[in-house]
Amino acid sequence: MAEFFDKWKRIISEKVGEVSKKTGEIAEVVVDKAGDVVTVVANKTEQTVEVQKIKSQIHVMERNNERDFTHIGKMIYHKFKKGEDIDAQYAELCEAIAERETCIEESKAEIAKIKGNDVCPNCDAHLESGAKFCSKCGTQID
Ligand SMILES: [Zn+2]
Repeated sequence: MAEFFDKWKRIISEKVGEVSKKTGEIAEVVVDKAGDVVTVVANKTEQTVEVQKIKSQIHVMERNNERDFTHIGKMIYHKFKKGEDIDAQYAELCEAIAERETCIEESKAEIAKIKGNDVCPNCDAHLESGAKFCSKCGTQID
């Protein structure tokens, strides 16, 4: 009988060792009534999977919040562009954004010039190939 238990102790400690090596966590080995090793449970691993699941849900919610924050900002900027009243605290940021938008347009025109693409003779905006009018200032293109 003692020999039987010694054998099982050895098998179980081997199984625990295998699982612990794989997961780096403490494992639990379950032996059923017939004496077979039926389940090798790594409790810490299950916890890790559960934590990862929750973390990924948090990540999705955080990403959606970022998207909505951006949306709020764009709604305010849209009001600013239409000349509607916006809080003074937002005006400064909107002006900075507008300045950057102008700068971006100029930079695109610069690239178009370097590449030899068509630019508007009036405002220097980049023209789509075959455009009849400038999409920015409406100047007719010959
Ligand atoms: Zn133009």
